[in-house]
Amino acid sequence: MEIFSHYAFWVLFCIILVGIGIFLFFYFQKQKQQQQVEAALLAREEGVAQKQLLENYLTALRGKDPHFSRISFLDFVKSLYFKFYLFQGEKYFVQLRPFLSDFLLQEELDKIKTGLGHKHVQISIAALHITAIEVNEQRDKVVVEIDAAYTRYQTQPPHLEQDCVTRERWTLERKAKVKSLSADFLQELLCPYCKKTGLFDENGTCTYCETEVIAGEGQWFLADREAIFEAEIKPDVFVNFATAYGLQIPTLVHPQISDQKAKFLARHQLNRWESYWQSYQERIILPYFEQVYEAWRTYEWGNARHLVGDRLYEVSQFWLKSYQKRGVESQLLDPQITKIELAKVEMDAYYEVLTARIFISCFEFVSSLKEQKVLKGSKTKRHHFSEYWTFVRKHGVHANSQKDLAYDIKTCPNCQKNADKMGKNAQCGYCGQKVNLGDYFWVLQNIEQDETYIG
Ligand SMILES: [Zn+2]
Ligand SMILES: [Zn+2]
Repeated sequence: MEIFSHYAFWVLFCIILVGIGIFLFFYFQKQKQQQQVEAALLAREEGVAQKQLLENYLTALRGKDPHFSRISFLDFVKSLYFKFYLFQGEKYFVQLRPFLSDFLLQEELDKIKTGLGHKHVQISIAALHITAIEVNEQRDKVVVEIDAAYTRYQTQPPHLEQDCVTRERWTLERKAKVKSLSADFLQELLCPYCKKTGLFDENGTCTYCETEVIAGEGQWFLADREAIFEAEIKPDVFVNFATAYGLQIPTLVHPQISDQKAKFLARHQLNRWESYWQSYQERIILPYFEQVYEAWRTYEWGNARHLVGDRLYEVSQFWLKSYQKRGVESQLLDPQITKIELAKVEMDAYYEVLTARIFISCFEFVSSLKEQKVLKGSKTKRHHFSEYWTFVRKHGVHANSQKDLAYDIKTCPNCQKNADKMGKNAQCGYCGQKVNLGDYFWVLQNIEQDETYIG
């Protein structure tokens, strides 16, 4: 009897010890998560304040240049970034002369001469943010941070190949007298005088109108670039899931949301926001969500080509290919939207932008292609997370038109034929139009994570 109670005591003691251990584990886990939420909220507060300051500068810039559009400007930066890396190490890099400072151009030309340096493929931009604007009597200056990924290889043997993620800070400048071209002319690097797709000789003279295009005289140019980081993608990146604490951060709703909604209603002669928003969720957010996730899940990313912007498409392609290269795949099963919250409605001279926070639940995991072994995530336990989705369309596509009500996302938004012949550039195989610039319908432009979104 005595032996038994002695034994029972120790069993009880161990159970209590384990109980305390479990309690402490969850307590510290929760506390850690709480700290992460607080840190993220603090960072967001700083980010929002900085962004507000930036808005004031942006207003000042628009005051003297009403055609300046953030979206168009970032499209231009994107084109320049893309060509900068695509042309790097090639003799035709010199064609970028009208868009680069003499120093940056020379630096790259020297690299080509010595054979040092890299070539890049699969260049994809994940995010672009304006971080500073300076306007004075001589010049306008805009600083942009660019998050991107690419595959690079050495120009000389052994041609070592690496997949990299990178963040750079680019400073773009132009003379103060220069005004923005209209949005249609900013997608590509055009000659600012004849507005033809830029082909320039080594002196920067346009081959169409024969005007010498000097950096900053008629257009923005890259004055400076600075690498913030560049890192090779390691296999563990693929199994490193985003932490769930972002879900606990409250939705960042734009402080002027009421004004924004009222302006949108007035512009489109709509009566009630609630009914528009309701149909927006049903007609746009839900079907886009289903189509986009299905395309991602089945590795048929092309099936969502006409619904997503180029940047989002390219960056998703990059990751899908990188997963495949490393013999792993990312799976999302049974994705469901559990809640949608409106975060922002924005309008400028050319575009309308709508951002919503989407709460998602699904089975998410990364598995090895060969053995189908789950490396991270779970096939049986639902993963809950949220993302900010930004939709864009051009001003002039009416919110209340029949097109908006009747658009079937499995078709081309221009010719209404089946969307089964979308080219890599989102050009419809039937009507030949590039359909993902927001000319015909809403385009999913961006997806941002909840812990980093600052509006
Ligand atoms: Zn020209
Ligand atoms: Zn078409």
